[in-house]
Amino acid sequence: MNKLAKLDHQFVWHPFTQMRDWLKREPVVIVAGKGAILRDAHGREYLDANSSIWTNLHGHNHPLINLAIRRQLKKIAHSSGLGLANEPASLLAAGLIQIANPQSAIRNPQLAKVFFSDDGSTALEVALKLAYEFTRRTRAKPVGRASSRAAEPKFLSLEGAYHGDTVGAVSLGHIDLFHKSYSKLLFKTDKVMSPYCYRCPFNRAKPERADGREYRRCNWECIGLVEKKFALQKRKRNSYAAFIFEPLIQGAAGMIPQPRGWLRRVAEIARGCDALLIADEVMTGFGRVGQASCLSPSSKQIRDRLEACPTLFACHHEGVQPDFLCLAKGLTGGYLPMAATLTTQKVFDAFLGEYGEFKTFFHGHSYTANQLGAAAALASLDILQSDKSIRSRKNLEKNLHHELQTLWSLPNVGDIRQVGLIAGIELVRDWRTREPFDLRERAGIRVCEAMARRGVLTRPVGNIIVLMPPYCTTPVQARKMVRAVFDSVREVCGKP
Ligand code: PMP
Repeated sequence: MNKLAKLDHQFVWHPFTQMRDWLKREPVVIVAGKGAILRDAHGREYLDANSSIWTNLHGHNHPLINLAIRRQLKKIAHSSGLGLANEPASLLAAGLIQIANPQSAIRNPQLAKVFFSDDGSTALEVALKLAYEFTRRTRAKPVGRASSRAAEPKFLSLEGAYHGDTVGAVSLGHIDLFHKSYSKLLFKTDKVMSPYCYRCPFNRAKPERADGREYRRCNWECIGLVEKKFALQKRKRNSYAAFIFEPLIQGAAGMIPQPRGWLRRVAEIARGCDALLIADEVMTGFGRVGQASCLSPSSKQIRDRLEACPTLFACHHEGVQPDFLCLAKGLTGGYLPMAATLTTQKVFDAFLGEYGEFKTFFHGHSYTANQLGAAAALASLDILQSDKSIRSRKNLEKNLHHELQTLWSLPNVGDIRQVGLIAGIELVRDWRTREPFDLRERAGIRVCEAMARRGVLTRPVGNIIVLMPPYCTTPVQARKMVRAVFDSVREVCGKP
């Protein structure tokens, strides 16, 4: 075994990993990367088919991001964001506010302020705490219940939601496998049905060889349930403080895409009931959901405006502007851990006061507004807005779509869900019945292990194989990724 692998086995505890399984075999030790390719300690090459857990945008070792970091390194790597400002973070905040308010797609509210933190979970923690305290400060308390627990700000998120692993983010989550053990440690939040068309009990359509959203037969009962949930809470005279969602597609829930128009309608309902909107774009942000022209956003008007000026965020495809926009993963192009929570002037103002009023937002992390991260993020924003990158994203989206069609011939592929540059392939025992594999069978894991043997790296979400390649992925590489899925599903689940 490679000596680095030995050290890993001896000392490292890996996230979301059954370490007994891990210790049975030599791990892949990555030593280098270039574009969509990763190289291990034995010199073997792999395609990074999930962009290093959804973080990398433009490929590894990108010359412009490397240069930006090197330039910053000559000045300073880090000084504290507590009590000090710095050059790249100020520039980055301005850049983020600019791209988060595309006049082409949205009107109000305007996102005006950026709170930096470290990763997706902390971006959500910040939004959660701000929304909680903003609501407490600004909402009139129901008469006679001033001190009642029942009037505490309450939060609503989606079934299957995943917003990170810190305790606040876990409280917003609804994946029993990850979250149930900690239920006594968490605060209670409500959940509402998410539109999982492929497995929706309201969908009367028989399975077809197409994305479940396209052939569904329903009466939007899922939206009816959202309406009911908000109305019920309003009747209790304590409307939800905030609604938290991943726009267009839920990731860790199982790559669950929303049918066109769902988000727009649900956002209207939430707003009508006085709830703040918290958009978790940790996965979907920075162009990951592709271009408007390919995506068919909810109205022609929005489509036309987006065509003229492509937006980088998923919620804008549905004309929705949240009160909190949570960003991480791709923020630095996948180079360094950095996150941002964007919010409105109104929220910001609720925390202003004389020092002695103690309205300060008492929250922050040691590496907040880190200069190296901010420099990488600024370079990434430049690349994202270049014609070359916009073109690559469009082409990759089309190529992926084309290649994915080959998978419909496999009886163990039940659904293929693509939103822009994200694809989820749901494995089932038989597409005609939609019968799922038991998680204990590790179908998703075994398929990904077989893909690794074919030189393609990704991780499943349960029985869903995820393809989310870097934007620089070539047509040949995209074909190789999908071919690896094809051959590995056949190997693991049986031949057609
Ligand atoms: N939100 C979403 C939508 C995510 O996909 C993730 C991570 N997969 C997180 C939040 C948490 O991000 P992090 O792992 O950087 O804390």
